Amino acid sequence: MQRILIQGRALYDGESYLTDAPAAVLIAGQRILALGRDAEAAAGPEARVLSFPGQTLMPGLIDCHNHLSLDPSLPDYLLRMNDPVPELTLRAVPLLEQDLLSGVTTSRCLGDKGFLDVHCRRAQNEGRLMGPRLQVATRGIRAPQGHGFVGYPFSGPEAIRMAVRENLAAGADLIKIYLTGTLRGPKGLPGTFAKAEVRVLVDEAHRAGVPVATHCVGGPGLDLALSCGIDVIEHGYFMTAEQIEALAASQAWLVLTPSIFFTDARLETLHGGLKAPHLAQRGEVGAVMARVAASGIRWAIGTDGMHGQLAAEVAHVVGFGAAPAAAIAGVTTRAAELCGLEQDLGRLAAGKLADIIGVDGDPLQDVTALQRVRTVIQ
Ligand SMILES: [Zn+2]
Repeated sequence: MQRILIQGRALYDGESYLTDAPAAVLIAGQRILALGRDAEAAAGPEARVLSFPGQTLMPGLIDCHNHLSLDPSLPDYLLRMNDPVPELTLRAVPLLEQDLLSGVTTSRCLGDKGFLDVHCRRAQNEGRLMGPRLQVATRGIRAPQGHGFVGYPFSGPEAIRMAVRENLAAGADLIKIYLTGTLRGPKGLPGTFAKAEVRVLVDEAHRAGVPVATHCVGGPGLDLALSCGIDVIEHGYFMTAEQIEALAASQAWLVLTPSIFFTDARLETLHGGLKAPHLAQRGEVGAVMARVAASGIRWAIGTDGMHGQLAAEVAHVVGFGAAPAAAIAGVTTRAAELCGLEQDLGRLAAGKLADIIGVDGDPLQDVTALQRVRTVIQ
């Protein structure tokens, strides 16, 4: 098997810098064989050498919340999720390439239309599509009266049971349910589904060994999610101090997606006057996110469709007060754990898959180094 020796200026394995040996990774086939001095020693004269002298080598990034066909650069981009599935699929293809070139070698997808995510996952696996490795939720499950532009409406325990089973049959790696909207409204943070419906959904998914994620910003929906054993809370923008404590004490994870509130360009392309309330609620959300950063919650980071811009989300999280190492873990080691992929991904170590990026600079000193990805190996 062809061996490739990759050399850089520095090597960050996802937890610490290799300081006592050369910054080198030896790979054979899909896997990492050795790091540092061992890599140089085991390479042998036949190994191909790829040298990136100015770069910090580190694990490929994991985007923990994406939608393959969501493109926030389009005007009224949420409404564009109602376009026909072939159009959405064509849109997804270059967006996935953009993700990969930005250093995202794995993406967790929280819902797309028409099972297009299953087809993209297969095409990527077969080398027909340039993009991150994919974990997919298939159809997002939302209530008829509830939020969820990338979801489909279902109502009642039996309809939800069927929806979960159909998603599993199609190959869902996780199940996604919408339990709240995104903004605080005139009626606060109303929930969508009844307890009996959520129970059935969690039961069906867990029996199949598949985790459940929920779009949930707070309110009674969050209490319901935790009491029903949902595995991952997505967003969490309006959690109370008590809910932050309860989440930290639970087994559940949180995925932080700052750009919906904190990236100005994204607010410009929202439809129907949604920009103003997002801006008005930015301060409240920022205060919650700062509390999350200082809490014991297990969290990771996602773009929610800001393709190619995971590094900007990381910078926002550092802005909330997280240490750069913790924020980087949120797109590498912790992200892999959240996805259940820590055996293979998230860290540079012998035996792991060789998803490696090279960045210009020291990301621990300056996380904007993640915005200067120069090399992507997948
Ligand atoms: Zn989303």
